[in-house]
Amino acid sequence: MTETQLREQICLLAKSMFDRGLTGGSTGNISARTEDGGLLVSPTGTSFGRLDPARLSRFDAKGQLVGGDQPTKEMPLHTAFYDTRSTAGAVVHLHSCHSVAWSMMPDADEDNFLPPLTPYAIMKLGKVKLLPFFMPGDPAMGEAVRGLAGKRSAVMLANHGPVVAGKDVEAACNAIEELEDTARLAMLMRGYDARALSPEQVQSLVAKFDVEWD
Ligand SMILES: [Zn+2]
Repeated sequence: MTETQLREQICLLAKSMFDRGLTGGSTGNISARTEDGGLLVSPTGTSFGRLDPARLSRFDAKGQLVGGDQPTKEMPLHTAFYDTRSTAGAVVHLHSCHSVAWSMMPDADEDNFLPPLTPYAIMKLGKVKLLPFFMPGDPAMGEAVRGLAGKRSAVMLANHGPVVAGKDVEAACNAIEELEDTARLAMLMRGYDARALSPEQVQSLVAKFDVEWD
């Protein structure tokens, strides 16, 4: 994929998520590795509905801003994933309603945020770590991700939103949509004593699809 195609893909998938209400206003941010080891990042204060391919923040392989507008202030979150996960080709962060709601439940599971309701959430996300609340832009968010030492591809920032790394833009976006859909299912089924997947079914998925499950 050329850099021009990558720029267009970032903006296209961001707009698709915005159009379906997965992140509103000027929330959400997205980044992707370029072939030369640099990064393309959504600029600060921009809306996912109106990202301009030509104005994405462009970093070189040394982490210097070399083009485009100023990047999102949540940049430390993104670099924390790239620095700790060699397989990360893209990182996306949303303020998606149902996952935020689920993060506020009194019995929220910090080690395994999503209940095992469907196979794809397990296959695409592995275990999702619930991190505490941080003030917006606090670099401690990035430090908390670094503290996971690359063992998780997805985290949920309590009262804020999910952050997911994937091998490329499409994989990261698909995975974060799975996270939000599963949180929505969890909210829908709350109080119904829903039949989730059994521990044996979860273990079979983890083994069969080589899921990271530490
Ligand atoms: Zn945010």
